[in-house]
Amino acid sequence: MQTTFNPHYVLKKYFGYENFRPLQEEIITGVLQQKDTLVLMPTGGGKSLCFQVPALMLPHLTLVVSPLIALMKDQVDALKANGIAADFLNSSMDDADQNILLDELQSGKIKLLYISPEKLLALLPYFSTQIQISLIAIDEAHCISAWGHDFRPEYTKLKQLKMMWPQVPIIALTATADKITRKDIVQQLALKDNAVFIASFDRPNLSLQVRFGVKKKKKMEEIASFIHARANESGIIYCLSRKATEDMSADLSEYGISANFYHAGMSATERAKVQDDFIHDRTKVICATIAFGMGIDKSNVRFVIHNSLPKNMEGYYQEIGRAGRDGLPSDTLLYYSLGDVIMLRNFIEESGQKELNLEKLSRMQQYAETPICRRKILLAYFGETLLQACQNCDVCKEPRQSFDGTLLAQKALSALARTNQNVGVNVLIDILRGSNRREIIENNYDRIKTFGIGRDKSFSDWQQLIMQMLNIGLVEMAYDENYTLKITPFGQEVLFKNRKIDLVQPEEKAAFIPKPQRATVSYPEQDQEELLFEHLRASRRVLAEKENVPAYVIFSDATLKEIVSKKPQSLAQFMEVNGMGEYKVKKYGNVILKELKSWQKSHGVKTPKASSYIETLALLKQGFSVEDIAITRQLHVGTIYSHIAHLYQTKALPNIDQYFTESDLALVRNARIETGKTQQLTALFLHLQEAVPYPIIRLCLAYLEREEKEAGVN
Ligand code: ADP
Repeated sequence: MQTTFNPHYVLKKYFGYENFRPLQEEIITGVLQQKDTLVLMPTGGGKSLCFQVPALMLPHLTLVVSPLIALMKDQVDALKANGIAADFLNSSMDDADQNILLDELQSGKIKLLYISPEKLLALLPYFSTQIQISLIAIDEAHCISAWGHDFRPEYTKLKQLKMMWPQVPIIALTATADKITRKDIVQQLALKDNAVFIASFDRPNLSLQVRFGVKKKKKMEEIASFIHARANESGIIYCLSRKATEDMSADLSEYGISANFYHAGMSATERAKVQDDFIHDRTKVICATIAFGMGIDKSNVRFVIHNSLPKNMEGYYQEIGRAGRDGLPSDTLLYYSLGDVIMLRNFIEESGQKELNLEKLSRMQQYAETPICRRKILLAYFGETLLQACQNCDVCKEPRQSFDGTLLAQKALSALARTNQNVGVNVLIDILRGSNRREIIENNYDRIKTFGIGRDKSFSDWQQLIMQMLNIGLVEMAYDENYTLKITPFGQEVLFKNRKIDLVQPEEKAAFIPKPQRATVSYPEQDQEELLFEHLRASRRVLAEKENVPAYVIFSDATLKEIVSKKPQSLAQFMEVNGMGEYKVKKYGNVILKELKSWQKSHGVKTPKASSYIETLALLKQGFSVEDIAITRQLHVGTIYSHIAHLYQTKALPNIDQYFTESDLALVRNARIETGKTQQLTALFLHLQEAVPYPIIRLCLAYLEREEKEAGVN
């Protein structure tokens, strides 16, 4: 039986996980050695466990400072669902409730307290004198830096924490921090001899796909069929404007998809309702501006679609990162068009930090246009090198051919030169393709020598080719001159000096839409497994509704998938499922086990019946107490003791003397002699005048019998 308290034991017991993810264990070990620590991990990387596991091992309270008030309740609910004493304190709480909570904190029962920075600062004198603190975790630590994208002035006051508690280790965590922000975090929190851990930002479970220039109607059809292929799954569609979210939501509803919209123009109550419906799976798809997402921790978002180009890679990475936090395969799909680029440029022109933001937009475009593995580009942006192509992006799956594009580029450049560089993309394409539009004729563009020279390519092909020419710098767009194209010096070299350039074959319009990624099992079985998954998902929903928590808090989709593939037949086998900690096995194990068995029975699957003794033995080995086994298995405590007696007699258990005292044993030993070696429990019980409880007599008897047998053999 496991008795020592180590991080692995805590991980299994409370969270039900077998292994730590990369860096988690090193971080936890450091924190337990009282080291100040800075952790950079992507969303879904598993930051929370880095302070939750130590919190359960340290003697006093762990404070978790977080600016995301909306998230606190969810996080605390998830901890409570694992049987962990946690609570939260923020401005949403009235004085009476706050006082009750403070009393509870004093009693030392609560292990983790999530608290907003304002509340903590206001209550600092109280905390420093009344409550013993073991650890301080600062979540979303980048908020401390004015360099970061989400600066919160109140975070800068957190420097007081180190002054107040110089001996208490601080762990600062963030998913986004460049070098300057990192330095800022360390300085402002006054971290001492701090260790810095930077995890890989790769999220290999997210597929990446980009679709260029798809017309509105076609795009809608594609998105609808993408979602239909993922019935019952949740997803987010990011749109650029408030109106676009509303239109998208209405369009999806017409396709029979459960959708709603979310943007900053709605009242707080409306937004909270939309968010709540999404978290509780009442709405499957949310069409939102980027305002949506900060406040949600939903682990089973299965897809993120961008209806148009995001304005920078940081935002894009963060938004797609909201998919697949549970580690299961999830899909991301980005649509972009030249129109998006123009619109974003207009926004940027009107905002501050123009240069920087334009540069960021152009990096975003490069990602969207890349002919090489997208993940490589994405990670390179964050300073990481991916050595192998990922095989999980559209470029890897359908590599695009590059070719000598010099002649094509010359055709376009030459046509452009002959208009005195006075046209934008669409007119240039019309000239190349020999269109008879009024604008072309009126401007005499049909008379120029290169008119119709590119007739063999479709409009959309030319769009993609010109986009590439923009990206490699043959032409640039004069945003201040009506978006006309201008030939760059590099373009001049190609046009006049025949400098060779490569272009990539334009994408076929019927490009692949990723099918949902699933476990690779043979088809008939997969169908069965999918049905079982849906069946258990429904059972999970019932449990979630009863407790008024989101379904993924009961167990994650990843855990549910593992239940479906392992099909545990006993509670002990349930303990082997990732994500099923002791508390959850006790609470939900039986319900799910029954569901699983009845489903198997109704589908003609024969299941071996696990022996009751073996089940008790397995749970004992998992560290369950006799009382816990009785509760979990819904059996009488006496029955469990009789199992233990049997297991000892059959030598399945090496010892049982921890269940009775020396004096119990002596009493039973004597009683047996006095009653003539009777094995009858009732006779012994009466003889002992109830001095030893019934189940204990049974255990002592088993002990004595085995002792006698072994003595006899020897
Ligand atoms: P972050 O805070 O970094 O965004 P979380 O701490 O919310 O990420 O973790 C994301 C998901 O990964 C959660 O569902 C969590 O339970 C799961 N997780 C974390 N660590 C492990 C682990 N060692 N094994 C399995 N799942 C884990």
